[in-house]
Amino acid sequence: MIEPAPNVAFPSGSAVGGAPGRADLLQRLAIQTSERARSGLLRRARTIDHAQGPWLETGERRLLGFCSNDYLGLAQHPQLIAAFKRAADDEGVGSTAAHLLCGHRREHAELEEALADWTGRERALLFSTGYMANLGVLQALLGRGDLCVQDKLNHACLLDGATLAGAVLRRYPHGDAAAAARQLASEPGAAALLASDGVFSMDGDRAPLRELAALCRREGATLMVDDAHGLGVLGPAGAGSVAEAGLGSREVPVLMATLGKALGSHGAFVTGSAALIEGLAQFARTYVYTTAMPPALAAAALAAVQLARTEDWRRGKLAALVARFRAGAAQLGLPLAASDTPIQPVLLGDAAAALAAAQALETRGLLVVAIRPPTVPAGQARLRITLSAAHDEEHVDCLLDALAALPRAVTPV
Ligand code: PMP
Repeated sequence: MIEPAPNVAFPSGSAVGGAPGRADLLQRLAIQTSERARSGLLRRARTIDHAQGPWLETGERRLLGFCSNDYLGLAQHPQLIAAFKRAADDEGVGSTAAHLLCGHRREHAELEEALADWTGRERALLFSTGYMANLGVLQALLGRGDLCVQDKLNHACLLDGATLAGAVLRRYPHGDAAAAARQLASEPGAAALLASDGVFSMDGDRAPLRELAALCRREGATLMVDDAHGLGVLGPAGAGSVAEAGLGSREVPVLMATLGKALGSHGAFVTGSAALIEGLAQFARTYVYTTAMPPALAAAALAAVQLARTEDWRRGKLAALVARFRAGAAQLGLPLAASDTPIQPVLLGDAAAALAAAQALETRGLLVVAIRPPTVPAGQARLRITLSAAHDEEHVDCLLDALAALPRAVTPV
């Protein structure tokens, strides 16, 4: 992610070879990759050898990480690990089939019940990842010519889902409910879904859910919220941003969230009325035609739900760490985003400046990810700092010290 571009030879130029009249797809991809490398935006996965709480060992180095979505610090909780091991001992590793074949185990059923109960809805349906959940829901709900209105900063999989469904996709400026209303009103005859992240993954701010719910009611549109970054963190008993906004299943009939972030495990679910879930189980292709998540993961996620619902101290600690970070960063004059969630971007603008800042932090033993285009729009590169209940105050202070020591050139104020 933050390593410089590797020394790989890519073909240059824009001509695409192959038989006359036919583009060579592999060469075209290689050219796109080389163009990305030339613009300094190549991204690469870093191999972490060992993770312990917020500490990450990579090669010879031990780094303090501020880049995971393990907001409640549950990923290494002994109860999750014990539940995982118990289920693996009982059930083995793989689920062996799709849910509708013979892949749906008692662990999956119990997790679905717990998730529906936590979010106050009739039923829930598990998906193997959040990406697949969003693709599946949008493909099942929407058809050609239907209208799908989305926040410009929604996660990529919501946008991809609308495209996959062949819907008419209209994207409104970030957080602008009035613009969303105009887009809905412009196509009064079309069946319409308004989909929004509850908490935006790269900005950390919340969607104006109450306004969106009101306009959906007025316009007869269905509201879907992706609460990947809100569940576990916000709302009473961590029930998420929708519950925090005081909205129920009438206002937000389609609620999706993931299990790989605050719940420290993996996978995702959609929750809503029994009729919605029955329909998705029939028509969401990313549910029907894929292997169910391993039962041990479902068992670990169930243990996480129980902890996340009951251990309010994790949310309290996290909120205090967020407040400490924001107060310190404000004193340093850092360009923070308007977020009070654990996602705390430092907005640097220039992609090279963000990369240089991440590299400077790493030399001081901190792992913070530079987020650059195309993940965020051009000119909006940032450090995406994420905090976790696994951090302590001294970790936050250490981060603030390192940010204070960044060279002036990488901290435009
Ligand atoms: N929605 C949002 C808002 C996300 O941030 C993400 C992933 N980061 C997803 C969906 C996809 O979830 P998953 O990683 O489980 O595929």
